[in-house]
Formats: sequence, C-alpha cells, structure tokens
Amino acid sequence: MITLRDALSSGTPTFSFEFFPPRTDKGERTLWNAIRRIEPLRPTFVSVTYGAGGSSRDRTVGVTKQIAAETTLRPVAHLTAIGHSVAELRHIIGQYADAGVRDVLALRGDPPGNPNGPWIPHPDGLTHAGELVSLVKESGDFSVGVAAFPEMHPRSPDRESDIRHFVGKCEAGADYAITQMFFHVDDYLRLRDRVVTAGCDTPIIPEIMPATDVRQIARFAELSGASFPEDLARRLDAVRDNPVDGHRIGVEYATGMAERLLAEGAPGLHYITLNRSTATLEIHQNLQTTRSARAFAAHA
Ligand code: FAD
Repeated sequence: MITLRDALSSGTPTFSFEFFPPRTDKGERTLWNAIRRIEPLRPTFVSVTYGAGGSSRDRTVGVTKQIAAETTLRPVAHLTAIGHSVAELRHIIGQYADAGVRDVLALRGDPPGNPNGPWIPHPDGLTHAGELVSLVKESGDFSVGVAAFPEMHPRSPDRESDIRHFVGKCEAGADYAITQMFFHVDDYLRLRDRVVTAGCDTPIIPEIMPATDVRQIARFAELSGASFPEDLARRLDAVRDNPVDGHRIGVEYATGMAERLLAEGAPGLHYITLNRSTATLEIHQNLQTTRSARAFAAHA
C-alpha cells in the first residue's frame, strides 16, 4: 500500500484535507458530505485530528477506520501523546495497523481546556513528540509525520532550540512534517530555510486555513499563536456582516498564498476544512485553473 512517505517521494505536489471527528449525528452528516465531495478529486490524503488531551480518542479512531474501510481515500491519523500511557498509545497504534492505516501524524498534544496551560506528562507516558515518532516507528512500517511551526512553537524559548528540536523529531524517523496554520508565506519560507541550513531535508507541507470572517481571528491566535495580516483583518472587518464578501476575500487571500507556496517549491498543500469543504474546494479549483492556464500559455 502506498503511504504518504511514498507519495511525497514522487516529487509531485500533494494536496490534502484535514477533518475533525464530529460529536453529533448532524456533525457526522456534515463531515461525510464534505468527505464525499472531496473524494472524487483524489487528494493525496485526508487527516483526522485527535481532540485536545486525547478527548476524541474513540471518535478519531472510528472515523479514521471508517475512511480506510469505506472510501478510496488515504487517511492520516493524528495521534497525541498527552494523557496516554505508552501501553495505551501502543494499543491505539495497533488498532490503526489492524484497520490498514499506515500513516500517523505524531504529536505531543496540548493540555485540554487551555492550550497554554501547564504541561503535565502522564506518569507512564511520553514527554515530547519525538518519543512518539520512535514508538510508532518501532510498532510497524508506518509513515510518520510531525508538526512544524512557521512562527516557532509558542512554548519554545527561542528559534534555535525550536529548530533543533524539530530536527530531532526528523532524526527520530519522521518522514514529513505539516505546519501549523500561518498567514504570512515568508514565515514558512524562513522555517524551511532554517531547517535546511540545519542539515535536514524532511519535506514540510504548509497548512492552509482560509480566514473568511473577522470574528475567527482571535480564535486562530488562541489556537495557534499565528499572527494575522493587518490588511486582511481590515478587509474582513469591513465586510463583517456580509458573509459572501468575507468568503470571497478569504478564498482570494488563501489562493494567493497557495500559489506562492507552490511556486516556492512547497511539497504540497494541506487544507483545514473545519468539516466544510466549500472554501477549500474553491481554493483548490482556483489553483487548478491558474495552473492549467499557465500550462496552456506555455504550449501556445
Ligand atoms: P513537540 O515536538 O514535543 O514540541 C513541543 C515543545 O517542546 C516545543 O517547544 C519543542 O521545541 C519542545 N521540544 C520538542 N522536543 C524536545 C526535547 N527533546 N527536549 C526539549 N524540548 C523539546 N493537537 C491536538 O491535540 N490534536 C491534533 O490532532 C493536533 N493536530 C495538529 C496538527 C498539526 C499539523 C499541528 C502543527 C499541530 C497539531 N496539534 C494537535 C497541536 C500540537 O499538539 C501542539 O502544538 C503541541 O503543543 C505541540 O506538539 P508537537 O508535536 O509539536 O510537540
């Protein structure tokens, strides 16, 4: 079976979508509508997040297994170390192996309730994501990804240690990384250059989050610490009561970012969907249109 590691080694840019496990029947229907709309595009993979503090463990495992069993998509399972003993983590990894899921995104996780709250390791658990990479790798022939932070991890004291620990995760066996959301392409390029300078060539896939409503900005900052462009914030604020214009502005901005990232050699694009496919599908469609127009112009 082809894993994301294999897909990345082909050199063709990947494209992929992130979902979260829903809590309600209605949420479940919304998720599956989005999955079924995305499936015909044949994305490289779809990923399923793991709720803060391991809170969605059964739902994440359930949705990931269902995608593996009932769709033609390649699921990448997020797995966080927080709140789990090593024995529990081994059990979850075993469940993925049983279901034929070979791709795992190995994360440390944040304390539930307050992502910036004190980090208390499980007494029989792990302390950093690098240890989880090693555990997953020891457990079978998995393709393993890790998190990367264009604006550095909020808990890192400085850039130097942030890059050093990132490279440490790659040395532990990570095959690729996916970034935290960000809104300035230069932040991604600086991270990539620093990692390469540190002697590491692990592909880093940028995450794209279309921001379509000015009210989302505070939440983004809380979840990711990502700084938000003032100009984009002003434009979204000017249309705060007009969702159609907000949607258009957010999709345009994200399309511009995605185009530049691919032109700069990013190995792929990973779209956050929030379980709704519309904005991300439009960005993907816009890219296809500009790429086909360029290919046509080059051959005309
Ligand atoms: P680590 O790599 O362990 O890093 C955490 C901090 O410790 C950093 O400051 C790092 O520099 C430092 N560090 C790392 N290794 C060492 C070491 N050996 N010694 C000393 N310091 C070290 N969270 C969820 O709960 N569920 C999800 O599904 C989820 N999905 C995510 C997907 C992506 C693409 C990203 C970017 C993040 C995701 N997160 C998710 C959030 C993530 O769990 C948090 O950002 C968490 O705080 C850090 O996770 P990490 O894997 O980068 O941790």
